[in-house]
Formats: sequence, structure tokens, C-alpha cells
Amino acid sequence: VNLDWHDLPLGPGLEAILGIPVVVENDVRAAALGLDRRQFGATGSLALLAIGTGIAAGVVLDGQLHRGAHGLAGEIGHVVVDPGGAPCACGNRGCLETVAAGPALVRRTLAGWAARGNGHGVATDAAPDAGAEAVFAAATTGDPVARDVVEASGRAVAWGIHLLALAYDVDRIVIGGGVSHAGEPFIAPVRRELDRFRAASPLAAEILQPNLVQLLPAGADAGAWGAVTIALESLEQTESTLIERRGT
Ligand SMILES: [Zn+2]
Repeated sequence: VNLDWHDLPLGPGLEAILGIPVVVENDVRAAALGLDRRQFGATGSLALLAIGTGIAAGVVLDGQLHRGAHGLAGEIGHVVVDPGGAPCACGNRGCLETVAAGPALVRRTLAGWAARGNGHGVATDAAPDAGAEAVFAAATTGDPVARDVVEASGRAVAWGIHLLALAYDVDRIVIGGGVSHAGEPFIAPVRRELDRFRAASPLAAEILQPNLVQLLPAGADAGAWGAVTIALESLEQTESTLIERRGT
């Protein structure tokens, strides 16, 4: 969605150029598979929620990457959490991305400051993730606008986690992406909202186990491992198909 590429036959195009078989997979979904295989010992049940310039989840169920009927499973950045809210790249309004992705944190903080006639300098022309870092830093030093933006973002991320847990009932939900690199200032409001859910609902308490949510381990190269895993597994499938064909 954020690249604005639609119906582009990327795989066949690359195969024609490179002359080798090419498998195209979304970066977050590839990373989810890599995490399951390389980081957590192929337990076969996890969701990776990536929060950066956009928001998306990769879901591994029963050891398999869950792609969905249209290859769009896990696009939860576009679930509406703020009806009638800010316009989103997908055409809708008030999507999770418009509240909790990096550019949204910067935009909402700047709008809040402008409304108060307060011209703090979050570098809008810096990389979106760097801008989000500045918002978390301002929130940590007690800026009320940044603090409200970070709190609202944390609540919305927790709703996304709750949605993933209810829909997929996975063993773990790992949070990665540039925005999550802020660490504690990012995750604290998320945990507070999840605690509120647990206190209010026995169902939420059961599905949101205390160790369900974790931040992506520092330095985990899940995307690269995911690409390797997908390439190897699709090669194995191709080989077994060839062997089956030879056998008939
Ligand atoms: Zn959207």
C-alpha cells in the first residue's frame, strides 16, 4: 500500500531478468517466518507486528506462513481504530497506521504543538523513524502533547495486539520495526492498556498471557533469515514436485 504498487507481476519479471526462480514475499511476512525458524526454534505459532513507516503483521500458524486468500493476511495497519480520523494511504480514514506508525506520531505531535502555538522542532524532514524517536524523547521529558500522542498510539497498538491474539491465538506476538526501537517509552503504554484489558476480562486475561508480547531481540536479522527460509523451502517444494513428476 505504501509503495503504491498494484498488480505488479514482480516475480515473473525478476525471473525473466535474473534467469533463476524468484519467490516474492512481503518483508514482514518473511521476517515472521525467519523469527519462527531461527529465533524461536520453529514452534510454529507466532505473529510479528512491525511498526515503522507503516504497520503490518506476519503470522505463522501450524508452522506455515499464513498468507490468506489474496496474500493480504496480516495487513492490520488498516483496521480502523479512529472512525472519521486522519486519511490513510489505503483510502480509508482513521486506520491504525494513522495513529501509531512513525509518520503519524510526528504529524500528530506537530499538529498538537501548532494548536498550542508551540514551535518545538521535531525534524520533519528526517527519516520518519528518527522523527518518531524525537516524539518519544519529548514524551519522556514530560511534554504533554507528545505524551498524549504516545499514550494514544500505545493504546491503539494494544488494540492491534488484542485483535491478533483473538484472531490467531498465537504463542507469542513479537513487536519490531523502527518505531519499536524506542524501547521502554514505546512499550510501556502498550503494556498498560493490555493490563487494563486483562483486569476487565477473563477472556482477555486468558488470551493475553503475560509473556505473550515481546520486543524483537536487538540485532535479530529476521528479514534476512526469512528470505533465506522462504527461498530454501520453496526450492525444496520445487525439487519434490520435479521428483514426483519424474516418478510418474
Ligand atoms: Zn489504511
